[in-house]
This record gives sequence, C-alpha cells and structure tokens, in this order.
Amino acid sequence: MIRHLKKICFVGILLLTWPSCQTDQKNDVGFINTVNGRISVEKLKFALTHEHIMSNFGAEANYLPQYQRDSLFDQVLPYLKSIKALGVSTIFDCTTAYFGRDVNILKALADASGMQLITNTGFYGAANDRYVPEFAFKQNAAEISKRWIAEFDNGIDQTGIKPGFIKLAFDNGAPSEIDIKLFVAGILTHLSTGLTIAVHTGDNPLAAAKQLALLEEHQVSPEAWIWVHANKVKNEQLLIDAAKKGAWISLDGVKEANVAEYIRKIGYFKAQNLLHKVLLSHDGNSFPRGGKIRTYEAISKNLIPALKEQGYTDEEIDQLMVKNPQQAFAIKIRTSP
Ligand SMILES: [Zn+2]
Repeated sequence: MIRHLKKICFVGILLLTWPSCQTDQKNDVGFINTVNGRISVEKLKFALTHEHIMSNFGAEANYLPQYQRDSLFDQVLPYLKSIKALGVSTIFDCTTAYFGRDVNILKALADASGMQLITNTGFYGAANDRYVPEFAFKQNAAEISKRWIAEFDNGIDQTGIKPGFIKLAFDNGAPSEIDIKLFVAGILTHLSTGLTIAVHTGDNPLAAAKQLALLEEHQVSPEAWIWVHANKVKNEQLLIDAAKKGAWISLDGVKEANVAEYIRKIGYFKAQNLLHKVLLSHDGNSFPRGGKIRTYEAISKNLIPALKEQGYTDEEIDQLMVKNPQQAFAIKIRTSP
C-alpha cells in the first residue's frame, strides 16, 4: 500500500514539475558558471559584477590576446589576494573575446588566488566596433548566437571553461546595425542558455530603449538584462523606469573620489524601493594592456563604510553586494509573462 502511494506521489510530482523540468533542463536554476565550474549562486557571496582582470583595450583586436604572462601574474595575483582579503569572493570579468579574454589565465589566477572568477561570451560592439570580428558583420544573429551557445554547452575553445554571462556593448548615438544584430544574438543565446545579458550602454537612452523593445519583441523579461555603466546616465528617471520593469541597473564606476555621488545615486534608488535592482562595481582593470592597475577596492574600503555612516543596515549592504548579484546572474531563462 505504502509502496503504491509512493508511486502515485512520484508520478504526481513528475507531472507537476514536468513543464519546468523541460524549460530548465540545461540551466539548473540558481547556478552560475565560474572558470572552475558550476556553483550554486549562494556561493558567489560578496561579488563585484563589472571589473576587468585584464584587457587589451586600445590594442588591435585579437582572438588570442598577447599578454606578458609573467608580468601579468606579478601584478594581478597579489592584487587579487589583497581584494580577497577585503572580503570579496567573486569577480565578474567583463573582458570579451577579441578584447583580451583569456580563460586559461583567468583559471590560473582563480586557482592561485582563491578568488572566484566568472568569464563571459559575446562580443564588444562599442569602440566603433573595433573589437567585433569580421565574420560577425557577415553572419546573421542566429549564426552568431550559435557560437556563443556552443561556448555555454561545450566550453570555450578546448578548455571546458564555460561563460557565466553574455557581455555586449553599444556605441554612442543611434544604435548601429551591428550593435543591434549582436544584441539579438544575445537574446537568442539567453533563450537557449539562460545566461544574463550585460550590455555596455552608458548614457545612451536610445540604445537602452532599443534593447528594451527588442527584449519585449522576443518575449524576454528585462530581468535578463543589465544596463551597464548606468552611473553615466544623466536622466536618472530613465533608470528608475527601467528598474521598475525589472532591468538591472549597474552603477559600476565607484572610486574613492566619487563616493558622495554614489551615496546620492544609491539613495535615489532606495527612496523608490529599488535597492534590489542595483549592482555596484568599479569597472577596474588589474592589467590594462600591461599598464598600471585601475583599482577595484573603493567599494570595500570607502563606499560601504560611508553607506553605514549614512545608516544603511547590514541587510541593505548584503542586498547590494550579495543578493542582487545572485539574482541578476543566476542562469535561468527569463521570459516575459
Ligand atoms: Zn568595463
């Protein structure tokens, strides 16, 4: 009898969960890919969501970047360890392919420092499309997305290292054909993989509006989209409107010198009960084409103490630095209702 009941229960559960099992088959909800494999988003802990461990920005576009490996390690490894000592557990590396992404180096740095590092798929369409590979101009969005989906399914090159998000970028001004095409490829990749789409948009309301319209057209929720460099937006009401639709607002230019400005910006979101849509980071770079470190420590050293002085609670800090990254980046297909 009990065995029989168990069987009925099992079938019942199977039937109840069947549709969600199907949609989430290849995206375990609540998980993320680090360069060391898949982890529960709960393990992200304190996360910086927009930094560059290294990049080739300013150099020629090259699929495989040429780094001076020894000087890179000499400069970046001690810095990563110092950031870890400040309490940072995870860094999202926003350097795309052709822009200086090297997942083998990221993995070696993660192993040596203990920092959890997350890499991306996608192409960088800003900088006048300088880092967009030639073939992307000829292929259609579906063809481009196949390459990104394959990185998610099989890993990047032969490394087995999988991307944890999609990184794209729009140039200033009216959205260009190539930037739009790459964004549609990003949407198709999201619909297949559940990877969140982080897009360098900055103070370009036209590009933001276009992206939101394309998401709607493809029935993807704005919750799958991050407005990167939103700190540069002058008309902050636009950010509030986007956040209310579910979009993630990345205020990612924190420096010691602009803490007061960030206190004001964060306060603006808090006043509208939208603290749960804000992501904070520095857009730092610990190896900008071999140059000096653009630091990513002001949030820990300056901003958080200042927020606490303003009366922010530990729960609110935790919301900003732990919970929001978890929810923004959990690998999950987000269709609009
Ligand atoms: Zn950046």
